[in-house]
Amino acid sequence: MAEHYDVLVVGAGPAGLAAADAAAGHGARVGLLDAQATLGGQVWRRDVRAEAPRMARHAFHAVERRTNIARFTQTQIVAATDKELLVEQAAQARTLRYDKLVLACGARELLLPFPGWTLPGVFGAGGAQALIKQGWPIAGKRVVIAGSGPLLLAVAATLRKHGASIAAICEQASAKQLAAFAGALWRWPQKAAQALVLRATLTGVPYHAAAFVRAAHGDARLRSVEVQIGENLVRIECDHLAVGYGLVPNVELAQLLGCALTRNGSHPHVEVDDDQRTSIANVYAAGEVCGIGGRDSARIEGAIAGHAAVGATQAAQALRSAQRHARRFSALLETRFTLDARIRELATDDTIVCRCEDVTWSALRDFGDARAAKLQTRCGMGACQGRICGTALAELGRFPRGGPRPPIFPARLATLAEADFASTPN
Ligand SMILES: Cc1cc2nc3c(=O)[nH]c(=O)nc-3n(C[C@H](O)[C@H](O)[C@H](O)COP(=O)(O)OP(=O)(O)OC[C@H]3O[C@@H](n4cnc5c(N)ncnc54)[C@H](O)[C@@H]3O)c2cc1C
Repeated sequence: MAEHYDVLVVGAGPAGLAAADAAAGHGARVGLLDAQATLGGQVWRRDVRAEAPRMARHAFHAVERRTNIARFTQTQIVAATDKELLVEQAAQARTLRYDKLVLACGARELLLPFPGWTLPGVFGAGGAQALIKQGWPIAGKRVVIAGSGPLLLAVAATLRKHGASIAAICEQASAKQLAAFAGALWRWPQKAAQALVLRATLTGVPYHAAAFVRAAHGDARLRSVEVQIGENLVRIECDHLAVGYGLVPNVELAQLLGCALTRNGSHPHVEVDDDQRTSIANVYAAGEVCGIGGRDSARIEGAIAGHAAVGATQAAQALRSAQRHARRFSALLETRFTLDARIRELATDDTIVCRCEDVTWSALRDFGDARAAKLQTRCGMGACQGRICGTALAELGRFPRGGPRPPIFPARLATLAEADFASTPN
């Protein structure tokens, strides 16, 4: 028997928590689900060493105290229609029905291939941060942090707090781009304050602008990285490399539901109106899935979506000017961290592009589209279902990502066979 919710929220990061709280505040029966084991999403992921920030504690408490919010953690969506979701949990599959759906699926890192990027010891920057928050021992290890965007500083601060020695932070944006970014931050005083705290935390750490990793070297594990710093090629000895080139909205579920996407930035994101409504009438979206904008716009948009989903339009309207201001930060990120074109040219013939299935750059050379490449090389058929390699190939201008088909995550056969899920999308 499928359970029914007035509002079902996918994603329990800042956007999803705010959406659930807002909708429940009007008396709606709300379901809040997330693939992770705890509430908080990416930015408020639980850290075994540190208490959650005050804002996060407040958001957790707001949701936990409401008896009309059912929480489903470690719950993965397998398939979806505009009325129900098929989800998989550790012990069972279930069908969740809804009147209104709020997509607060957040974003993931953009990883781009370069020689040596699959060596043990090389991580995504946010991935390394997540592992370390969950207790992976890093004390005393020498780590190079590289890529682009403000996340690099947040990652460096977490690693340092856990005892890592940060050998260098390599930001690909130029000093001029960074100065323009810093110069505009006064418009978002909270972010400016966060940046100052991070800088203070990272005193003494070598920070290079216009710097990117050309190759990682090692044997059974990483030993050093070759870094382009301005015109110079420098080798840095290290135990780990944490590298990420910004964030990419998680739009797969929205695509599966048929929501229109827009691409006025570098990556497709869900198109919404002033009430965070998507092109599908009963589906709303909020936070990074609507474009990379950070925690504050995620919280505001989540609240707007939650209010609007239950018809509380005045409460939603009251937040619009704050939302517009917070969203201007997205444009700033977009313009100030554009990628150096040389980063897209680092992969060589034998560089692995699809690391789930070990498919190299040269093996993909002769294919004109993602589907043909997938069928003949298995590129994108592994555990990540093309989220890493498909996104990288699109970013490298190789071929655009195809639309997802259910199951959108690898699922047990029993889930597909036993679930009370009558309709199939598309
Ligand atoms: C790896 C990583 C680390 C980051 N670390 C920081 C940081 O330290 N500081 C900072 O300021 N910003 C950080 N960010 C940026 C951060 O994502 C945003 O500022 C903020 O968390 C966005 O909130 P959100 O609610 O939109 O999405 P998120 O916080 O990303 O939450 C989305 C949630 O949706 C869940 N989800 C997605 N799809 C599904 C699905 N199909 N089924 C079930 N659950 C699903 C995810 O598990 C996730 O918990 C990080 C981003 C990433 C990708």
